[in-house]
Amino acid sequence: MTSDTRYIEVAIALPVFRTFTYSAAEPLLELLDPGKRVLAPFGRRRVTGYIFGPSRNLDHKELKPILDVLDEQPLFPPGMVPFFRWIAEYYKYPIGEVVKNALPGGLNVYDYSSITITDIGRRAHKSEPLSPIAKLVLEQLLAGPCRLSKLFKNIGPKIPGALLYNFEQSGWITRKWELSGARTKARLERFVRLADTSLPLDRLSKPRQKILDILKTEQEIALKKVKEAVPTAASLIKPLESAGYLTIEHKRVYRDPFGEPIKPDIAPILNREQQKAVSHACNYLNKGYHPFLLNGVTGSGKTEVYMQVAAAVLKKGRFVLVLVPEIALITQLERRFRARFGECVCVLHSGLSAGERYDQWTRILQGQATVAIGARSAIFAPFANLGVIVVDEEHDSSYKQEGKLRYNARDLAVVRAKQNQCIVILGSATPSMQSYYNVTINKFTELSLPKRVEERHLPDIRIVDLRQIRDARGIQRFITPELQVAMKETLERGEQVLLFLNRRGYASFPVCGACGQAMRCKHCDISLTLHQRSNAYRCHYCGYSRAATSSCDICGSTKIKHLGLGTEKLEDMLTSLYKKARIARMDRDTTTRKGSIIKLLKGLKNKSTDILVGTQMVAKGHDFPNITLVGIICADLSLSFPDFRAGERTFQLLAQVAGRAGRGNRPGRVILQTYNPEHFCISAAQNQDFKAFYQQEIGFRQALAYPPFSRMIQLKISGKDPHETEKHANLLGDHCRKLKTIHAAHYRSLEIMGPIEASLTRIAGRYRWQILLKGSNTGALHQFINQLRSESHPEFNHRRIQVAIDVDPVFLM
Ligand code: ADP
Ligand code: ZN
Ligand code: ZN
Repeated sequence: MTSDTRYIEVAIALPVFRTFTYSAAEPLLELLDPGKRVLAPFGRRRVTGYIFGPSRNLDHKELKPILDVLDEQPLFPPGMVPFFRWIAEYYKYPIGEVVKNALPGGLNVYDYSSITITDIGRRAHKSEPLSPIAKLVLEQLLAGPCRLSKLFKNIGPKIPGALLYNFEQSGWITRKWELSGARTKARLERFVRLADTSLPLDRLSKPRQKILDILKTEQEIALKKVKEAVPTAASLIKPLESAGYLTIEHKRVYRDPFGEPIKPDIAPILNREQQKAVSHACNYLNKGYHPFLLNGVTGSGKTEVYMQVAAAVLKKGRFVLVLVPEIALITQLERRFRARFGECVCVLHSGLSAGERYDQWTRILQGQATVAIGARSAIFAPFANLGVIVVDEEHDSSYKQEGKLRYNARDLAVVRAKQNQCIVILGSATPSMQSYYNVTINKFTELSLPKRVEERHLPDIRIVDLRQIRDARGIQRFITPELQVAMKETLERGEQVLLFLNRRGYASFPVCGACGQAMRCKHCDISLTLHQRSNAYRCHYCGYSRAATSSCDICGSTKIKHLGLGTEKLEDMLTSLYKKARIARMDRDTTTRKGSIIKLLKGLKNKSTDILVGTQMVAKGHDFPNITLVGIICADLSLSFPDFRAGERTFQLLAQVAGRAGRGNRPGRVILQTYNPEHFCISAAQNQDFKAFYQQEIGFRQALAYPPFSRMIQLKISGKDPHETEKHANLLGDHCRKLKTIHAAHYRSLEIMGPIEASLTRIAGRYRWQILLKGSNTGALHQFINQLRSESHPEFNHRRIQVAIDVDPVFLM
C-alpha cells in the first residue's frame, strides 16, 4: 500500500468480541476522527463500525479498506474509548454492540443516506470521461434519488469507497443522512433581529414601533417571544423585513421535554453539615479521581449539595453528569437544576423521543449542555471532560440494566470517574451494602448529613401488627383502625396522605371460586393480575393479557374471586371510604403517557390531591412538602423473596417511603403495617437507622460469603423446550466443574452453585435455569468465565438455548 494509507481500529456493530483494523486512503484520510461511524466490509456484508483511533495492530497485510466515513462530527469523544473497552471486557459483551447500546437509539445501523444527482452531475454524466462503475452509479441516480443500500444492492459491492465522496466533492451529487422515519429532523424556529437602525421610525404604526423597540433591547429574539408582547407580530414582521428594518432567520432550537417556564432560584445558605460536605468534595476537584458516599437522611438537603458541587465544577470549566433512578425524579431534579443553572442543563432518558434524545446528545457534544441529568443510560453521555458524576439514590436497583448489555450504571459511574480522573458522589439515605462497605474499607470517603434541613424532624414511625386484623372483612383487612384514624385527622387538617403498596393492578391473585385454581399466565409460571380499568387480566412479566370476563381454565366456572390487593383496588376502596377526598394513583399503569407524571406531581404540589396511592415509584426521592402522613399498607411484600438482597431491599424501600413524610414545615408521621413486627429490617426502618441495619446485615453477608465479601456472575440459561434447556444447563454445569478441577489451585476460591431451576421457572414461554459463580477473587472469577466461554463455544452459541452472562447480578430470581 502507498504511504498515504492509514490504518484505523474499528469496533464493528456485530456480536464479535474484538476490534478490527481497516485501511483508509484518500480522500477519506482527513475524516478519520475517533468517534465517527464508518461503513466497512465484513465478510460479504457491509456493516457500520465505530472508529476507535489509529490501529495498534502492526500487521497490515491484506487489510480491507473502509468504504466510507458516515459522520461529519464524532458521536463520542475519544476519551470514551477506554470506557467502552472496559465495559466490553467486564460485562462480557461484544465491543461494537457496547458502543451501539451507548449511542442514542435511532442513530445506529439503520439510518441511511439518500443520494440525489445534481444538475452538474447530469451534465458530467453526458460529457465527462467516466469509469464504467461511475457511469453505472450516475445512471442509477438519474432514475431518481436513491438510498445508499439500494445503490449497493443494484450495482453490487464493487463501488469504491471514495467514489461517492468524490462525486459529492465535485458537486455531482448531494447526500442526506436520515434516520429511518426521519425522526431527527431538527426543529427550526423563526428569530428576528434588527437590521438597519438608521431607518426612520416615526411613520410606522404603533405595533410596528413596539416590535422594533423590543429588538433594540433584545438584539435577537424568537418571533414567539415577540408575539407575546405584540400579538399581531406574525403578520407585521414580513413587511418590516421587506422594508429593511429587520431580518428573519430560521434557527435550530432544542426541544424542551417539558416546556414549562422555570423561575430562576438563588442558592440557599447551606447548613453546617451541608457546608462541610460541599467543601470536602470541592477540595478534591481537579485533583484526580476521588469517590464519595453522601450518606444523608431523607430531607437532609443532598440535592443542594450536588448543586453546589456542580456549580464549583462548572466554574472550573468541567462538566457535570447526574444520574437518577427514575424518570419522575429527573423531572423534579431537572426543575431544580434548571432554576439554578438555566439553559446549560439537558436531560437524557427513555421517555424522550429518539429525536429529542439525539438533540440532547448533540448539545453535549457541542459543549452547549454542560450539565446532564438522566437515567442509567445517561452514564454514556458524551462528555469529554467531566468534573463530577453524581449518582442520586445510589442504592436503587433500577441502575441495573437487564437484558442486552447488562450493566450497573452506579458501578460504571465509579469506573468512568476513575478513567476521567474526576470525583464521583454516590448519594442516598439508605446506601447499598456494597457502597457502605466500601466506606468501611476506606475505598470511599463518607460525607454525612445526619439531620434534616432547618431543624425539621424525621417522621414518627409507628408499627402496627397486621396479625390482629387477620379475620377482618372488607377494607378493614387492609387499613387498620390506627391508620384510619390517622388518615381522618390528616385529611381534616387539610394535609396530604401517601399510601404505599408495592403491587399494581386490582387483584394480584385471582382464583376460581369453584375449583380453587389460580388464574395463571399461559407463558409464565406466575399468577395473572386483574386490571379492572383496562378490563383484563395481565401478566406482569411477559405482558400476556386476557379478557376480564375469562372463565376458569380448569372447570369453566365464571365465578372468579379477586384475592390479593393491588393499588387499583386500594384506590377504589378509598374512594368509597373517603367520599370527599381527591385520590390519585401513581404506578406504572398511570404513568405511561407522556406528561402524566408531571400532572400527578402538580396535583400534589397545588394541593388538588388529598390521597396519593402508589407503588415503589413514590418511594424514590420525591420532595412532597405537604404530605404529613405516610401509610405503608403491607411492609412484608418483598421480605420473603428468595434473594439474598431481600432484606436490604425491604429496608431501603421502607425507610425511603417513610422519608416522604413531614418534609415541609409540619411534622410527619408514618404508620407501618406488617406481619413481622420483630424483623430487624422493619425495626431499623422504624428508627431510620441505616447503621443498625448495616451492622446486622453485614454479619449475614460475611457468614455466607455473599457480596460485598465476594462477587458473583450468573449464567442465565433459557429455552423453549423444558428438557433441552435442563440438559443444556447440566452440560454447562459439568463444563464449569471440569474447568475448576483442571485448574484447581487457580480457581480455589471459586464456588459453582447450580445449575438450578430459576425461582420463576418460566417467563414468556422460556424455561429458565441458572448457574451462579461466586468468588472472592474478582480477577479469577472473570478469567474463569472467559475461559469457560472460549472452551465451551457451542454451549454459548446454541441456536435454541440462550446463555446470558450476568456480571454482578442484582435480580437472582
Ligand atoms: P434530600 O435530597 O436529602 O432528600 P432535598 O435536597 O430534596 O433533600 O432537600 C429537602 C428540602 O430542603 C428541599 O425543599 C430543599 O429546597 C430544602 N433545602 C435544602 N437545603 C436547604 C438549606 N440549606 N436551607 C433551606 N432549605 C434547604
Ligand atoms: Zn375452576
Ligand atoms: Zn406471562
